[in-house]
Amino acid sequence: MAILVTGGAGYIGSATVELLREYGRSVVVLDNLVYGHRNAIDADVPFYEGNVGDSELVGRIVAEHGIDACVHFAAYAYVGESMADPAKYFDNNTVRADRLLKTLIEQGVKRFVFSSTCATYGDPVRIPIDEAHPQNPVNPYGWSKFMTERILESYDGAYGMRSVALRYFNASGATKRCGEHHDPETHLIPLTLDVAAGGSPSVSVFGNDYETADGTCIRDYIHVADLADAHARALDHLENGGVSTHINLGNGVGFSVLEVIEAARRVTGRPIAISMAPRRPGDPPQLIADATKAWEVLGWKPQIADIEEIIRTAWDWKIANPHGYN
Ligand code: UDP
Repeated sequence: MAILVTGGAGYIGSATVELLREYGRSVVVLDNLVYGHRNAIDADVPFYEGNVGDSELVGRIVAEHGIDACVHFAAYAYVGESMADPAKYFDNNTVRADRLLKTLIEQGVKRFVFSSTCATYGDPVRIPIDEAHPQNPVNPYGWSKFMTERILESYDGAYGMRSVALRYFNASGATKRCGEHHDPETHLIPLTLDVAAGGSPSVSVFGNDYETADGTCIRDYIHVADLADAHARALDHLENGGVSTHINLGNGVGFSVLEVIEAARRVTGRPIAISMAPRRPGDPPQLIADATKAWEVLGWKPQIADIEEIIRTAWDWKIANPHGYN
């Protein structure tokens, strides 16, 4: 039996593939390589370049490898792009996810771990955000994931497809093998470390007039290895007969943009210049998880919770892979 990991060549997907293999699980990766990197996964992992909406291909993979569960990462995740080209997001993140689900159900695969996001909550009405917080996304990316969550609920009731939707806060850091390499890069920590490495002159701070202590946005940074571990636990939960559910994955602690940059200065020992920039549209002032449920249901607690330690792993990976996966 094996686990199908869609988007397994991406940032969180590749770290999860790495960990599942360490745990002795057989893994098959399906990735269209639009944003993923073939060399983010070991050469001996069965790999298919293709689309999750390709029923013929998915059906063949399930049959050939005896797939009995799926971890679905494959998605587009640029908020700004989703506002400019929402059709791309609904097509890929919702319609194709639905097609994947139908194919899996037809083939008798009824365990599904879904890569969801705190963007499904929209602007928080309370902090920290627990799973009962209202979901009211503020961009098409968030809606595309929100709708897939709702599809999963319907398919549980109608077809017995059991799922865990994991709502990530800010994925960050690196394992020895797998790190963050987006093109284009939009995330704070890799952009900050690029300045430390001399790749760019300064990092922009998007807004310093928010209602937070230092005026910059606060986020909950969660290490990619901890995220990977939560996926392994979600698979165990479903294998042990656990019911479908939604679970936040975060540290429960927030850091401002300026605090992250300051931590990066300490870790790298290098000056990191900043330039003040206007607010980025769609950024809520604060996102902090209440991750109590992850502990209660999955027995999961972050192991790398210190922001400097998180940045240290990202920095080590950057030094070892100055050009990322290129
Ligand atoms: N941010 C910033 N400068 C950058 C990139 C991000 O000030 O060059 C801020 C962004 O506005 C947000 C936080 O850093 O408040 C984290 O942004 P990121 O894109 O890493 O993750 P997001 O929270 O959007 O998922």
